[in-house]
Amino acid sequence: MNDATIKILLTTPLFLYSLVLHAATHHYQLTIDPLYHRLGVHACFGSSTTALQAQDPAAGRLLAQVKLQPKNRYRLSVSGRHLTFSKPLQKKACISYQVDLKLASRLLSQSEIRRFGTDLLLSPSFWLWLPAERTHADQIRIAVSLPAGVAISTPWKPASGCGTKLCYRMVNTPGHWPARIAFGRFRIIRVPAGNTYLRVALLHRQKLGNPSKYLKWLAAAARAVTTLYGEFPDQAPQVFVIPTGHKRSAVPFAQVLRGGGIGIQFFVDQYRPLADFLRDWNATHELSHLFLPFIERADLWLSEGFSTYLQNILMTRARLLTEAENWQLMHNGFRLAQDNAPGKTLRYNTRFMHRDNAYLRVYWSGAAIALLADVMLRRDSGNRQNLGSVLKKFNRCCMDHTKAWSATEVLAKLDALSGTTVFRGLAGRYLSSTRFPELGRLYRELGIRVHGKRISLTERARFSHLRRSLTGSSPQHPRSLSEQEPEEIELDDQDRR
Ligand SMILES: [Zn+2]
Repeated sequence: MNDATIKILLTTPLFLYSLVLHAATHHYQLTIDPLYHRLGVHACFGSSTTALQAQDPAAGRLLAQVKLQPKNRYRLSVSGRHLTFSKPLQKKACISYQVDLKLASRLLSQSEIRRFGTDLLLSPSFWLWLPAERTHADQIRIAVSLPAGVAISTPWKPASGCGTKLCYRMVNTPGHWPARIAFGRFRIIRVPAGNTYLRVALLHRQKLGNPSKYLKWLAAAARAVTTLYGEFPDQAPQVFVIPTGHKRSAVPFAQVLRGGGIGIQFFVDQYRPLADFLRDWNATHELSHLFLPFIERADLWLSEGFSTYLQNILMTRARLLTEAENWQLMHNGFRLAQDNAPGKTLRYNTRFMHRDNAYLRVYWSGAAIALLADVMLRRDSGNRQNLGSVLKKFNRCCMDHTKAWSATEVLAKLDALSGTTVFRGLAGRYLSSTRFPELGRLYRELGIRVHGKRISLTERARFSHLRRSLTGSSPQHPRSLSEQEPEEIELDDQDRR
């Protein structure tokens, strides 16, 4: 079959119909007891299945009361994270099982299962047994029944069609992608995010204290992210806020997880005032990761670089930083990165980033490439095109959260969407270079003057107007807290019942 034939087949309705025809929907039901001792799962499969798979090697040891429907037709064997049937389970066959959460707490690490006060945070890796042969097109629906007063937080997308139960659609990501689910005495709070909202769960509420501080902070970060192109890049992502006690910054650790859907965890120093949270870049950085799909580890310079660039630019657009502060912070990053893990190419530094502690070099080289790309797009298009407008097109046409992307794939798409070679050109030049991306000329053209460690801005440079358009502002001070708009915080449906 040649390329043309494949192309015709791919665009034929019959071919698409046959893909849909072969896609199966698997239905899961979850239950948990009020003390979180046991998790119950009932799963019915939309296609014939010979084996189920969990992710954690200890998953098999935690299984109890495994029952099959129809009865007495199959034998099953469990080994580690594999559960195999004596013959293929027919379509619509079901399995039910219990998972011993008390034993899980003893066997597994705290990253897999951990209590926070009256709340339980756990990974699906040791209890979600999925069909081993499921295809990329398969759908996974999950209905949840909860004891009175207990809520659930999941990265799965809210869905309908489960009767009186809560209903979700799990994004069909690779099984090994991490995720976190929480059960607890929290509420799911909707924090506005442009055209959508964040589904926020505040874990260990007694320790976190007054929720309004965290909700205002997250709303400000979501608003900042929305300034890139007027929309938030994902629908209703899951967000956790978890207290850590006294730390050196308001948000000592945060990360995006993508298993089954997008989930973002923020570990916070609950003793810090709101002002510290609003000045912290972590929330804008993490939420900015949603502008790109999951990028392969070997290409982290791209995902981390873009987020590092955007964290400052977008905070400035949202007036959480002044324009001068933005460029000073960027200059600090670029300057420190030039002395970090020197003498190696960016490709090498990215590959061995953890081993060589080359974080500054990788993050800020990527940020410099993003800055150069944003300025080149604006300059060459008479300011009609920019990084945000290209990422918006990418989100519309090509965003796929179910697979890992290489930088090459993403950059080729961005070039095609912008009608340029800006992205691949910059990556090609700097990935194989041992030198930090050259910014001297860009500084001069944008009107950024360097005085040792400090910078100043001038309006008399050739592209001063482009510099101002990057941050969407003329130099000014951030608004005081009292000037921030009051937030409309809504409760999720499950709280209304
Ligand atoms: Zn990051």
